[in-house]
Amino acid sequence: DKPWLDQKAKPFIRIDGVTKKFGEFTAVDNVSLDIFKGELFALLGGSGCGKTTLLRMLAGFETPTAGRLFLDGQDMTELPPYERPANMMFQSYALFPHMTVEKNVGYGLKHEALTDAQRKDRVKELLDLVQLTPLAGRKPHQLSGGQRQRVALARALAKRPKVLLLDEPLGALDKKLREQTQFELINIQYKLGVTFIVVTHDQEEAMTLATRIAVMDRGLIRQIGTPTEIYEFPRTRFVADFIGSINIFDGEVKSVAKNKVTVAAPALGADVIVEHTGTMPAPGAKVSIAVRPEKIAIERKEPGADATGNTIAGKVIDLGYFGKDSLYRVKLPSGTMVRVNAVNSRRADENERVAVWEDNVWLTFAPSSVIILT
Ligand code: ATP
Repeated sequence: DKPWLDQKAKPFIRIDGVTKKFGEFTAVDNVSLDIFKGELFALLGGSGCGKTTLLRMLAGFETPTAGRLFLDGQDMTELPPYERPANMMFQSYALFPHMTVEKNVGYGLKHEALTDAQRKDRVKELLDLVQLTPLAGRKPHQLSGGQRQRVALARALAKRPKVLLLDEPLGALDKKLREQTQFELINIQYKLGVTFIVVTHDQEEAMTLATRIAVMDRGLIRQIGTPTEIYEFPRTRFVADFIGSINIFDGEVKSVAKNKVTVAAPALGADVIVEHTGTMPAPGAKVSIAVRPEKIAIERKEPGADATGNTIAGKVIDLGYFGKDSLYRVKLPSGTMVRVNAVNSRRADENERVAVWEDNVWLTFAPSSVIILT
């Protein structure tokens, strides 16, 4: 049931070498991407990376400068928006202020070949789906932000599109409501099985919502993968840095054996052994190694103890307490700062933290937790 992992599965949406230029400026640069039926796919990237332009081309609001777009095997590159089996939900929701919730949801059905009874049924079904039946008679200004978002969602789904395109669907909601709405969106998508493509700049949102994510930067796709792949195995410095927090150090490959690569990292003042799969770098190659703060083990240094492999001594400079965990900034003898996250014990005692300011500590980088970036 994970067609995107099946190399032979047929893609539902195929973006094939699509470029969009605005004058001299290339907003989307030769992007190719397959999306499968029933996916909740996220286009993730910072401001101006081209994600909205790509979404608008799928909707038919922009025409590619080059490349083709296919849906279910059909070339839709030249089709006008209303002839595409796709619908877009805008960040602003674009609800009609003078219409009730019910009328807003039913609006898109006006030109559908449906009887009045069928239309009514469809609206009722959608209002049930987004749990707005009790509010059917209200106007948009009588609704909360989250309720408006649900009206917009129901309206976008009314014509039963095969693909729903969502531009920052939770962007207008405050943080608390976002979390709740994220889960609603996932549940609704799952229930309907409609393919959702979501544009977002929020990496946590992409990770929570999506089956797969395409990370975009300056018109290019930098990596496509499941949230776990993107988080655990970022392939480039850009992706590693964009998703979550990570420590990155420059290094040089010293030796390669089986699936182990030894990297000399001057900032760490030590060689680091990395478990690596895929293409092995050659000895002498310049690489970056990266490790997430929560993957580094930190312990108070026993005086006189010797460092073993992948263990580096440092001193705690900054300490932030976040309840469930603490963030440590540890200074190495080279002057390099390393960020470390460690879960706190439940004892309400300063000394029960792993370490405090000025403590000498050992940092251990397990070979399976360190990533080689290219
Ligand atoms: P944001 O999150 O800020 O909306 P984005 O990743 O969605 O960013 P796009 O809206 O796709 O970015 O825009 C990509 C680039 O293309 C931007 O630099 C933008 O200024 C430019 N651009 C978009 N639409 C047009 C247009 N109609 N004319 C000229 N330039 C445009």
